[in-house]
Amino acid sequence: MSKSPLHFNPTRFEGALSEKLYIGFASASRKMEREKLIRLLRTKHKDNDEAQTLADKLEACKKNKRCQLAPCPECAPAGQKLLAKVAATFLAKQEGAGHLVCVSIVPADGVCKPKDLDPAYAARNVRRWKERLGRAGVTWFVGALDYSLNEHDTARYKPHWSEHIYGLTTTTDMDRLKKELRKQFPVTEAIPRPVKVKIWDGDPDALAYLLKPNYWRRVATDDGERFTKNGMRSCRATDKQRLRSKERVRLALYLDELGLHGRLVLRWAQFVNRGATASIEERAPKTVGTRIA
Ligand SMILES: [Zn+2]
Repeated sequence: MSKSPLHFNPTRFEGALSEKLYIGFASASRKMEREKLIRLLRTKHKDNDEAQTLADKLEACKKNKRCQLAPCPECAPAGQKLLAKVAATFLAKQEGAGHLVCVSIVPADGVCKPKDLDPAYAARNVRRWKERLGRAGVTWFVGALDYSLNEHDTARYKPHWSEHIYGLTTTTDMDRLKKELRKQFPVTEAIPRPVKVKIWDGDPDALAYLLKPNYWRRVATDDGERFTKNGMRSCRATDKQRLRSKERVRLALYLDELGLHGRLVLRWAQFVNRGATASIEERAPKTVGTRIA
């Protein structure tokens, strides 16, 4: 079999990152963000070989010769744009088959210590979670992994990374879908609302959120206030804060290993790159067996 000189892989997401995805709003500030990340790796982590290798790769990211890395502040937003675009085309074909809904899931077994962030662990999680989506009655699912560093302001639980999923699917029965998903992804002490489902109103922001390139530290408090018909009452709330530089580097090193493609969570669907065009194609289980990308 002849080997393509470009190592063309029709299902590799990064291979479809064309230069035009880098053009537009905030492109100058993204370049600055990349330079800032390189400086951080070069100064505060100069004894860390992995950090230096990542800095080398980020430094080499140039027009028409992109690094295509998941932690790259220029390539990650290009990937975000690409996934939003192919997801929009895929979703347009699904209309009329039920309600299109946005689903956010924070699985209890997606919690891990910083040293445990690992692509093999993520791949196992994704396999397991796709099975659970199936058990909850989900057919196709177009989504991606997202990450946050979760803390509690009075240290009621230990700080941890949370690997979670966000994506879109279709349903003819919202309430049943919510109920079934909650059975598969139950509430825990640190995760009071593991499942959120809402109708997709066609807002493109929901598609941009799929592969969002920014990550946060979520600091939970038990003293939040919520207005109810009986007045104010205290509730749990989370405050979104910037990652500390050490955490930012830990996540960047991990994302470098995982790759943008490793973030995709596709069930009964597959990313296909035909060179000039890329798309998400439906893949019913009978055509690809259990090995769905
Ligand atoms: Zn890059």
